[in-house]
Amino acid sequence: MRPAICWFRRDLRLSDNPALSAAAHQGRPVIAVYIHSPEEAGPWAEGAASRWWLHHSLQALGAALQAQGISLQIHRGPALNALQTLIRETDAEAVHWNRLYDPAIIERDRAIKAQLQADGIEVSSHNAALLREPWTVKTGTGGPYRAFTPFWRAAQRESTPAQPLPIPPLTGPALNSPLHVDDLALLPTIRWDTDFPAYWQPGEAGAQARLHAFVEQPVHRYDTDRDFPAINGTSGLSAHLHFGEISPRQIWHAAPAHESDDVKTFLAEIGWREFAHHVLFHHPSFPDEPLNPRFADFPWADDPDHQLLKAWQRGNTGIPLVDAGMRELWHTGWMHNRVRMVVGSFLVKNLRLPWQQGEAWFWDTLVDADLASNSLGWQWVAGSGADAAPYFRIFNPIRQSERFDAEGAYIARWIPELSRLPAKHRHAPFEAPADVLAKAGVTLGVHYPWPIVDLKASRQAALAAFAKIKKSPA
Ligand SMILES: Cc1cc2nc3c(=O)[nH]c(=O)nc-3n(C[C@H](O)[C@H](O)[C@H](O)COP(=O)(O)OP(=O)(O)OC[C@H]3O[C@@H](n4cnc5c(N)ncnc54)[C@H](O)[C@@H]3O)c2cc1C
Repeated sequence: MRPAICWFRRDLRLSDNPALSAAAHQGRPVIAVYIHSPEEAGPWAEGAASRWWLHHSLQALGAALQAQGISLQIHRGPALNALQTLIRETDAEAVHWNRLYDPAIIERDRAIKAQLQADGIEVSSHNAALLREPWTVKTGTGGPYRAFTPFWRAAQRESTPAQPLPIPPLTGPALNSPLHVDDLALLPTIRWDTDFPAYWQPGEAGAQARLHAFVEQPVHRYDTDRDFPAINGTSGLSAHLHFGEISPRQIWHAAPAHESDDVKTFLAEIGWREFAHHVLFHHPSFPDEPLNPRFADFPWADDPDHQLLKAWQRGNTGIPLVDAGMRELWHTGWMHNRVRMVVGSFLVKNLRLPWQQGEAWFWDTLVDADLASNSLGWQWVAGSGADAAPYFRIFNPIRQSERFDAEGAYIARWIPELSRLPAKHRHAPFEAPADVLAKAGVTLGVHYPWPIVDLKASRQAALAAFAKIKKSPA
């Protein structure tokens, strides 16, 4: 039998991998390939934290394939050239891959499919990343959804997601890979990633371990615990999902007792991921432009030399919950969802900096950076997106801190210089009495910054700015 190529992209797993199963159908020899072609993702090639993850995930995939008896071929793009070369060298008759939904990738894949088919190769793409393909969930009039609740209701109305596929038996020719993972130079040269391995185990085994730990216990308290950043109350599966080390179907079927409120809420978050892909698919400019065109003229603040942006990026704004979140992001490549909303609101509303600047920073620093979910998150925060927070909802980061980190444990973890302050003063050290600060060894402006913006005045300025665009024609 002539072999089939399984082109791995962001589906870095062996189980429940429809492209791999299709390639291996009826014992056909399989050639597994990964092609590094960041330029084909347009402006949205992987950021630095994602490249760290990808490096380790490719190593894990290579080892897992080796254990099944085949090797992972690593090539450099352009993807079409790499596939054509591999087809020529191996006499492969078919190419299978799992679909991605980033606009630039959709276009590239269409062109590759057309060319390979013209070359006489059998080409099939499959769905491995979503419970529902973006074009299959439609409103009553046949259009896309712009609100989550009806979208998710409609998405669930169809049949239950199919059972995940097992790892297929694999055979393949003995091949030497032209490149090794190290040749892709995905790891940073300045090693800011030293803390990451303590938090993450990229790869399918790491994803399964996290899923099983989560469905054992935390999922049963998800509804309450998920909002508290000091608690490990969420699954931590986002990067595994982004790189396709686990499928939403596997999560769906591993989740116990679907009728419990905790599990329903958790699965609805998987639903938000589906919604994000739905919105991106139907609005390809979503990562760059506000979905609500009124926001195109939003009067952003001046930020000479990016001083405000830099203070935000470095976790030096003087607002502890914001700074704790930004430092968690820097050290771990991840940030708790509630804190993402708070730091986002602070950037866009209190500092009045464009949401695209926050989106770009997250893109570079998050291990779970995902074009669909990141765009949705930022446009939600800005009030310009699908089912977004209303523009007048401006989080007060001090109240959020008092409510969701009452003991100040999260702040103490990420801003140790504030850990000697009594919990109630950690939320707003600039309001603490001088003797309390002195006793805790905190001098504002020396050990920890004064706030870079007045929360009340900046809130008023944001509301005034929003009132202006509200009057502009939609
Ligand atoms: C400004 C902003 C930017 C964001 N950027 C990203 C991003 O780049 N990548 C990303 O995966 N998520 C992003 N999110 C959504 C969310 O914060 C993360 O998915 C979540 O914190 C990941 O942690 P978890 O895996 O423990 O989530 P859990 O609470 O365990 O949720 C399970 C899964 O559901 C999905 N999910 C949960 N919340 C959302 C959401 N609001 N939107 C879309 N999917 C969701 C994720 O895949 C997650 O792994 C962003 C949110 C905001 C407010």
